[in-house]
Amino acid sequence: MPKITIRGIDFDNVTMDEAVLLAKQALKENQRTAVFTPNAEIAQLAAESTEIRDLLSRADLLLPDGAGIVLASEILKTPLKEKVAGVDFGERILALAAQDGYSVFFLGGKPGIAELAAQKKILTYPTLSVAGAKDGYFKKEGIENDAILREINESGAQILFVCLGAPAQERWIDENKDRLPSVKLLLGLGGSLDVYAGAVRRAPEFFIRARLEWLYRLLKEPRRIGRMMKLPKYILGTYRE
Ligand code: UDP
Repeated sequence: MPKITIRGIDFDNVTMDEAVLLAKQALKENQRTAVFTPNAEIAQLAAESTEIRDLLSRADLLLPDGAGIVLASEILKTPLKEKVAGVDFGERILALAAQDGYSVFFLGGKPGIAELAAQKKILTYPTLSVAGAKDGYFKKEGIENDAILREINESGAQILFVCLGAPAQERWIDENKDRLPSVKLLLGLGGSLDVYAGAVRRAPEFFIRARLEWLYRLLKEPRRIGRMMKLPKYILGTYRE
């Protein structure tokens, strides 16, 4: 699969359609696949930490979530085909699951969010089978974590949405995927369940087209300013490179 290295991270250079097709094939061929969707914030974190860089490199599919990554690829004169936002990719996987008969498990978000997301998505895709839903506020190791793994295994889900925020969700997937034998597709998707539940609104089309989704999120959640400072740092670092 063609890859493009951007500041030490090998992104898969795929369109949304190609990414969905790869996931579909992996499911059909029973090939366990971990999908990470780093944005510029996490890519900057990876530029500062080899631990995060190594973690991201262990993904089977690494999708460029966010205009910042695409901009960096353009600055480096190795443009990626397009942005593949995790939340949109997840939506496409739900449609695929409903169509091809795979069951999904939603893990993450505040208590009640995963269940609400499940209810909403069953309305959108009446043939969707949601095997389970669980909030993301549990101890990510020891007996509490073991109980979550047992619940997912017993649900029989083949597709697992892991929405614990980055890089916690990537770490969790990396540490636990071998203990989830029936799960074939693991997706690290940040705040996607909040969007599916209707608790957080996606930026209007204008912001997305103008590559200003980050600005919309900042206006809605000003407390993100600290972590968002990683964005200009990422772009500046790219120019320097
Ligand atoms: N979250 C969680 N468990 C935790 C910490 C956070 O499930 O221990 C959830 C949180 O409720 C939110 C998501 O993780 O739904 C992180 O969302 P955010 O938009 O910050 O995602 P990011 O930008 O980090 O990908």
